[in-house]
Amino acid sequence: MNFKQSALLILVLCLSGMSARADFNVFACEPEWADLVQSLVLEAHITVATSAWQDPHYIEARPSLIAAMRNSNLAVCTGASLEAGWLPALIQRASNDTIAENREGLFYAATYAHLHQPHAHVDRSMGDVHPEGNPHFHLNPHAVPSIVEALVDRISHVASAEETKFLKAQHLRWKMRWRHAREDWEAYLPKLRGMKVIVQHTGFEYILRYAGIEAVLDLEPKPGLPPTASHLNAILNDPSLDEAQVIIISPYQDPQPAQWLSEKTGLPVLTLPTTVTDEEVTATLPKLITHILSSLSTYSGTDTKGLN
Ligand SMILES: [Zn+2]
Repeated sequence: MNFKQSALLILVLCLSGMSARADFNVFACEPEWADLVQSLVLEAHITVATSAWQDPHYIEARPSLIAAMRNSNLAVCTGASLEAGWLPALIQRASNDTIAENREGLFYAATYAHLHQPHAHVDRSMGDVHPEGNPHFHLNPHAVPSIVEALVDRISHVASAEETKFLKAQHLRWKMRWRHAREDWEAYLPKLRGMKVIVQHTGFEYILRYAGIEAVLDLEPKPGLPPTASHLNAILNDPSLDEAQVIIISPYQDPQPAQWLSEKTGLPVLTLPTTVTDEEVTATLPKLITHILSSLSTYSGTDTKGLN
């Protein structure tokens, strides 16, 4: 082999290596979006910024996250100011040309969802109020299909033809799985409708509303503000307390306020993740929704003073 031939061979090897490495890198702000991307593009390399054990409103823009965003083709986030305390800094430090406001590489699910009650979603780190509405809409079974529709469209714009070869087929498969899951969820609804619960934050609002469950009290004095002693004492004297059947909290929250209330009232505390986890029972968004509804249904028959 002469010099020219070996140079050519090296070039060919490099190019084939490059095409094999031409990965579709995705940065997901929350695990639910990682799950959706993974079910649409099986080969996608996904970095998830938050987990079920973290409050997605407040994380640190760690160097590893900055590097992951720098190397990503697409970032999929909630939007509606959920990540207002950390995402702008991350985007700025990553300085990835395609992942920036109003660029195709930055997908905000909130753009494609109808948000409930544009209410005061207080953000501790900003000392600010978000007018867009409740950003925890990934637990709304009615909202997710149109988000996925838009996500499929966006992926087809930012990924190569090779990476999106099976996108349409995977989308069809996803829709079928979602439809089947919906049948399971609907079976829980008669049992859940009219149930009354106590929450800590508005993280479950959409799924509670879907199931016809009313959150009669919130351990947070205002959305995003941690429970205070005076607020908990006010709850203890609130007549709605008699109607509640269970207190729902999330794994990332301090369980003490709920436990305190439980000791005072005898109400059970149910810890439910608000997002997808590594555990099999909540490993995908449909499984998570099933898990939430089925867990709640085990408390739906509980007799309370208010119902007797
Ligand atoms: Zn929130």
